[in-house]
Amino acid sequence: MKKIIIGEHIVKSFGEGDENLNVLDGASIDINEGEFVAIMGPSGSGKSTLMFALSGMDNIDGGKVIFDGNDLSSVGEVELSDIRRTKMGFVFQQPTMLKNLNILDNIILPSMRDNRKNVAKISEKARELMQRVGIAELEMRDITQVSGGQLQRAGICRALLNNPKIIFGDEPTGALNTKSAQEIMDIFSEINAEGTALMLVTHDAKVAARTERIMFMLDGKIVSELKLPKFDGTNIDGRVGKVTERMW
Ligand code: ADP
Ligand code: MG
Repeated sequence: MKKIIIGEHIVKSFGEGDENLNVLDGASIDINEGEFVAIMGPSGSGKSTLMFALSGMDNIDGGKVIFDGNDLSSVGEVELSDIRRTKMGFVFQQPTMLKNLNILDNIILPSMRDNRKNVAKISEKARELMQRVGIAELEMRDITQVSGGQLQRAGICRALLNNPKIIFGDEPTGALNTKSAQEIMDIFSEINAEGTALMLVTHDAKVAARTERIMFMLDGKIVSELKLPKFDGTNIDGRVGKVTERMW
């Protein structure tokens, strides 16, 4: 199976001398094209740092990250930012959005940088995505006039606008109530069914149980993994049970 990401013995440290902390301490991880994975682990185990390393958001101190065939430490700044903009999408606990722009403009803004002439086309694609995730009627709204779940949907539209090969999510449901979280997971499942890989960092066994491989981190390394069949909408309780059994 073709890998979208190969991470080998990644080392990342913060601080110096006695204060030096190896936050990633030889972490290795592979993700297949189109795969849906979750990263779990105690707070401070290095999950977010790993996501930053794999997505080229942060440089690393040792090891290697190959993204879609490119060694991220040997590509130049411009190429790296191209790769990130065209092949990766990011969803965080809460999307960062500009208060003086409406929802639609917030969604299309990052894509406008190299597509100034294509406003109409990009807006059309954004509207399609908004329709899909159920926020079509909100395009003109100010970002302060929508709920957390709706804002997260807008964040997902923004992440999907360039047809990325993978979506990285750092606690994407962490700020949502159970119902909204489930709806967001339904959207992620759909996106995955269409071939996009997803890597979600989560504390929530219910979220992890929707994926097909859960990797557990401890002290800057992936220490074990649990494989599950692709989620088909059934046996969620059984899946959650399996995840919970393996949690620290
Ligand atoms: P997780 O996402 O698993 O909770 P993180 O990857 O955010 O963990 O952080 C792992 C450790 O690295 C924590 O001890 C955190 O304080 C430290 N850390 C993360 N980012 C920085 C930074 N920019 N500077 C210093 N320490 C950091
Ligand atoms: Mg984190």
